[in-house]
Amino acid sequence: MSLNVYAFTCGWLTLPAALLLAGEKGSLTVPVPSYLIEHPKGRAIFDSGLHVDTQTDPERRLGRLSSFHTVGFKPGEEIAARLESLDVAPSKVDFIINSHLHFDHCGGNEQLPNATLLIQRREWEAGHNAELIESVYYDPHDYDHGHKVKMIDGEHDVFGDGSVVCIPTHGHTPGHQSLRVRIGNDEVVMTGDACYLQRTLDNFHLPTAMYDRDQMLESIRRLRALRDGGAMIITGHDPDLWKTIPQAPERLAAVRGAA
Ligand SMILES: [Zn+2]
Repeated sequence: MSLNVYAFTCGWLTLPAALLLAGEKGSLTVPVPSYLIEHPKGRAIFDSGLHVDTQTDPERRLGRLSSFHTVGFKPGEEIAARLESLDVAPSKVDFIINSHLHFDHCGGNEQLPNATLLIQRREWEAGHNAELIESVYYDPHDYDHGHKVKMIDGEHDVFGDGSVVCIPTHGHTPGHQSLRVRIGNDEVVMTGDACYLQRTLDNFHLPTAMYDRDQMLESIRRLRALRDGGAMIITGHDPDLWKTIPQAPERLAAVRGAA
């Protein structure tokens, strides 16, 4: 079975380091990752990066979020262009798997018009709850584009063969999920914001703000158990780790030498 995974950088964000690691001084510039998974039964995008409007008018697009995020995002880095660079038409993406509904993870959804959205039910409901939209910093402009939505409760095997599995890692937001992909004998886990940085994973160094601290710790423990079992863990926004991750058109699987 051939399964390919490609990593894209769909922009960069500069933000106070303390937002990612409580107590840290200064600022950090971090990548906004997106992944294409090509499976014989379909194509999936795990997180779609920033909305293309943030290339030209981030203040307008991001509103209150723009006061503590500086966007570095150039034409050609948006998800549609990244796919086209691989000769994949954005209209031919079958699934969008959003780790969660923050602007840097689902902003590109609008460019993938025919995909079915795979999202944890808790996350989708939170993203449509007025109180949580306010307190968790959601913006329905990022995800209310009329996609067919398949709501998931807990683990979900996307193609039915165990190769691509959504795993619940709640805490950062109410229904955050990560993605586990098996390529040959290798296992790669894209954590999304369940774990911002390698230091989050290594030291349980939490960010300043999160929806549910206990659930976040439990999710990090779950990711550490997968790492202990041999999985490669790609944390959500780690600039140092990201330098070591092959970018499309190179295949991510090449990192482990898998077929
Ligand atoms: Zn994020």
